[in-house]
Amino acid sequence: MSPFTTMRLFLLLASLAIVGCQQVPVTGRSQFILVDEGEVAALSATEFAKMKKLPADPRLPKLREIGLKIVAAARRDDKAGVLPPASRWEFAVIDDKSPNAFAMPGGKIGFHTGMFAFAPTDDDLAVIMGHEVAHVICRHGSERVSQSMGVAIAAAVADEATRDSSAKTRGTWMAAVGLGAQFGILLPFSRSHESESDRLGLIFMARAGYNPEAAPAFWTRFGKGNGGKTPEFFSTHPADATRVAQLRKWMPEAKAQMPKKP
Ligand SMILES: [Zn+2]
Repeated sequence: MSPFTTMRLFLLLASLAIVGCQQVPVTGRSQFILVDEGEVAALSATEFAKMKKLPADPRLPKLREIGLKIVAAARRDDKAGVLPPASRWEFAVIDDKSPNAFAMPGGKIGFHTGMFAFAPTDDDLAVIMGHEVAHVICRHGSERVSQSMGVAIAAAVADEATRDSSAKTRGTWMAAVGLGAQFGILLPFSRSHESESDRLGLIFMARAGYNPEAAPAFWTRFGKGNGGKTPEFFSTHPADATRVAQLRKWMPEAKAQMPKKP
């Protein structure tokens, strides 16, 4: 890469809304985020709007109730003000038989109809909700978008470095950034994101008054084979012995935050 190309890359990065290092709550891990949380939230809202929702599903009020309790419990760790106000959160039952649940930046949470069979109690729902809200407070969506933008920018730079077409340069880069952002939203989370969400989710559910012991039980149940075919949620959220062992390790930290019984 020529020094000139490097400088142009630097200028492009500097022109992006936010370039910087942020810290994940509780774990304190540093993360590099290239995008504005609001822009990622807007992209997410577009994706969320396309999904087939069931607004009259009788399980929706319960989901919303548990979700908002978890969000309220999570706010104590939201030093950076990432979590939207309660009125901005949107919970939806998604008409899809595959067992899956997800959270998007900006506070959009979706539960597939196929997920409910795997989460019969409020504590089970709180396990999933705690985990998903943790993805939001940790800005995993923005981090993932930033990572895939980084890959897209590198590819565009490599491409430009072999040609001398400076007029098109900015357009090429901006297209790459857009692709990276779009693609990033749809990628599964990394293993370290999953661990972080497990730990914070455990704390949030305990703080909200749910039994954190439901978490290792939930993951153990699904770790024991599902007739050979791994449902989508569990292929992107592997329920192996490591995951359950980590939850056990973090259990005292979570239990210490449970509300005191009168
Ligand atoms: Zn997850």
